[in-house]
Amino acid sequence: MDDLQLLIDLHKDGPRQGPGGDDETRLAVALSGLKGTANLKIADIGCGTGASTLVLASELDAHVTAIDLFPEFLAKLEVAAGLAGVAERITTLSASMEALPFTDASYDAIWSEGAIYNMGFAAGIGAWRKHLKPGGILAVSELTWLTAQRPEELQAHWAREYPQVDTASGKLAVLERLGFTPVGYFPLPERCWLENYYWPMQQRFSGYLDRHDNSEAARAIVAAEEAEISLYERHEAFVSYGYYIARKTGE
Ligand code: SAH
Repeated sequence: MDDLQLLIDLHKDGPRQGPGGDDETRLAVALSGLKGTANLKIADIGCGTGASTLVLASELDAHVTAIDLFPEFLAKLEVAAGLAGVAERITTLSASMEALPFTDASYDAIWSEGAIYNMGFAAGIGAWRKHLKPGGILAVSELTWLTAQRPEELQAHWAREYPQVDTASGKLAVLERLGFTPVGYFPLPERCWLENYYWPMQQRFSGYLDRHDNSEAARAIVAAEEAEISLYERHEAFVSYGYYIARKTGE
């Protein structure tokens, strides 16, 4: 099994594949102002196993197209959607966020939790904007500095892993530059990282290593995750995901 398959295998059984929370998705929905509008068309990009997709399909009068590169994650989402009784409101689509097969001005909202970094914040926003109807909503979560100064170790790690990490004001400026007016921002609280993402992952480590005969590659993936968890635990006051909700402006 190659490294990519090993990563998919570690993450497919998780409740989510990045930091987040159902309450936080609901808060973003509230800030979006979409409640009360009928027949919404929404895309959830980089949906993973679909934690946010299920909330969107339950909270809104919407059809949600759930997009991810990996069919293994979408298969989990389909099972969960059936159990939640919202299967007919969700269409899954295995595609790259860098080449979405959508027509222009076709969506009321584009959602993306913890995934736009795969393209980069500005590149993703720039590319996805055309798929939104005039006045459409963009709701994305993105790695964000919570303070103007950071410990050197943390700064160095994320500057290397994701150089686009910035403060909220920096991210809001990108949204404005690319044709959006911000309507809401909040940082994800610590439990979105620990209780909802890292701790469930840690509970899967031993079964995962067993399943892969304690292979060197599997151990390297676990070690890298443990290092990231430990870094977060040491510096959680300085970094989180910010949730950005913005409305498309202009023509
Ligand atoms: N939104 C989910 C998953 C976040 S993890 C959650 O919050 O739980 C990032 C997701 O982006 C993963 O599911 C990964 O498979 C997906 N992804 C990575 N590169 C992608 C690409 N180029 N196109 C579409 N999805 C991609």
